[in-house]
Amino acid sequence: MAHLGSDVAAFVDGQMSESAMREASTHLDTCEECARAVRQQRLLKSRMSTVGSPEPPAGLLASLTSLPAEPPPRERWWTRLGRALPLRTGAVLAGASVAVVVTAYAVGGPEPAVGDVVVPPFNRYAGNFAGASTAQTGHVIPAAAMDALDGKGWPCHPTLAGDLHRVGGRYSDGEEVVALRYSDGRATLDLFEQNGHLDRDGLDGFEPARMGAADVWVRPGAPMLVTWDRAGTVYTIVTDADRDQVERAVAELPSGPRDKSGLSQRVGDGFSRMAAWVDAA
Ligand SMILES: [Zn+2]
Repeated sequence: MAHLGSDVAAFVDGQMSESAMREASTHLDTCEECARAVRQQRLLKSRMSTVGSPEPPAGLLASLTSLPAEPPPRERWWTRLGRALPLRTGAVLAGASVAVVVTAYAVGGPEPAVGDVVVPPFNRYAGNFAGASTAQTGHVIPAAAMDALDGKGWPCHPTLAGDLHRVGGRYSDGEEVVALRYSDGRATLDLFEQNGHLDRDGLDGFEPARMGAADVWVRPGAPMLVTWDRAGTVYTIVTDADRDQVERAVAELPSGPRDKSGLSQRVGDGFSRMAAWVDAA
């Protein structure tokens, strides 16, 4: 059989005929290239399904982000709003509905508890760190694939903290974990990324710490372990680098305060503009 090519997504979603699925499975047993494409697709898919809140309707978002900053003179705000938004069931009703929707998105609350609660295998990570020959097991992620993963929810930065260069990456633990190794020739830093939320009860020997703006858990020692979760991904660092260097690395990964960002920030901006209009009415 030929390579899966554009059928990779259909295969992962199980949207091929039974015979085609069988054929594809057989092919995957012998074709590392396609197997890799399937692993990457699975990772991306699982990543997408655990990212934040649902998208509001595109039309609503477009309307909110295009609202002018200043209220128009001599026109009641809701009249104007009714015209600006794609809701035509009467200006006041439209305003009220939109306000409810926007408030729901803007207020949001803490990050939704999506994904599984996980305990990374800290001791195994630490053990692998010491035994250089078996340090990294699992399928190699080619550089091009790491670049593709980077920015899609799986940070695979080419460098961390300035001097630490990415020297390799693998899918490990049944392809569920992205495992990256960095080195500056002196210090080594292993970074593990997996879906889920950190199980606070599984943090034996860890103490809460602050690294830059991030709340993390640190297990001192050689190697030192640092773990935290953000937006449905658990990050674990195993390293013999200086703490300063580690702090810089953490700051370059998703680790900031859990405040409004991205979509909710944009919607929040729209909400602020609406509020300004209400004040002006
Ligand atoms: Zn193939």
